Amino acid sequence: MVKPFVPQLIYVEPKAMEYSLGQSLVSKFENMGVEIRETTSHNQIRNLPGDNDFQKYRNAKSTLVIGIRKTLKFDTSKPSAEYAIPFATGCMGHCHYCYLQTTMGSKPYIRTYVNIDEIFDAAEGYMQERAPLDTRFEASCTSDIVGVDHLTHTLKHAIEYFGKSEYGKLRFVTKFAHVDHLLDADHKGRTRFRFSINNNHIIKYFEPGTSRLNERIEAAVKVAEAGYPLGFIIAPIYLHDGWKEGYKEMFEKLDDALPPFARKNLTFEMIQHRFTKPAKRVIEKNYPMTKLELDESKRKTKWGRYGIYKYVYQDQEQQDIKKTLGGWINDYFPTSTIEYFT
Ligand code: SF4
Repeated sequence: MVKPFVPQLIYVEPKAMEYSLGQSLVSKFENMGVEIRETTSHNQIRNLPGDNDFQKYRNAKSTLVIGIRKTLKFDTSKPSAEYAIPFATGCMGHCHYCYLQTTMGSKPYIRTYVNIDEIFDAAEGYMQERAPLDTRFEASCTSDIVGVDHLTHTLKHAIEYFGKSEYGKLRFVTKFAHVDHLLDADHKGRTRFRFSINNNHIIKYFEPGTSRLNERIEAAVKVAEAGYPLGFIIAPIYLHDGWKEGYKEMFEKLDDALPPFARKNLTFEMIQHRFTKPAKRVIEKNYPMTKLELDESKRKTKWGRYGIYKYVYQDQEQQDIKKTLGGWINDYFPTSTIEYFT
């Protein structure tokens, strides 16, 4: 069982101390006895401990930076939402395929932003532009925010903020089961709480440092009992020897665990494994022993939004994935919706 994250080292931007959340976090970590250092900017943590890149990478993943979010222009977040809402960046998990390894480059430490009222104000502006249409905000584009939220409660505030909002909806996804503090948040049904799930083989070999499948499913049941709209993202769907048996077992476990009320407004999203050439280089550097299959010649290229080719499965394999996994979703959860396959 993965324990809730405890950072080994904290950095604080001086300006973060002008916010009550910044002050309360610093005092919390002082009481926990965690070393606290100052940094001029959350973008410039240069003296992380470690003798080489490998050690520095691992130390960074247990370092938390308390900072200010300066850029309040939100990225779009298709296909799951209209905008990405930035409460945190980085993750303590060690999933070999994680795209954050490439997008965060030399800054793999975890950042939490304390100017959340300013972030809410910016969200309000985006909502007004689209009103009376709803605007969906995705809170997990740059982090697994649930993994750090037992310490910060930023997500909990956001859930309650969107609970009161007229046109805003919140969604996020997690591979962590540490959800208890979120169960009494006044969400008013405006937050979709999703779990990223996968079969046991993939979790075992490629997702170190995250909660196991049974823990995620147990947490999902608690979340459904708390009245949240629930969803599952199967990602990355990865083809390995025995993948069909593995995914069937995953759906059987889910079917055994989910009570009827959790299935009414249930969504599934399906994302196949993909990688880019730069991602492959970073993965092989950070996880040199990985068994992740990254052979370009076995894949099909697809033009990506970042102006670079990504390698996805061949058409026929994609059809097989859609038919096989989509079929089980329809069989086991006939009242659910498959939002997309990509
Ligand atoms: Fe990346 Fe999600 Fe794994 Fe964290 S839990 S390392 S964000 S894939």
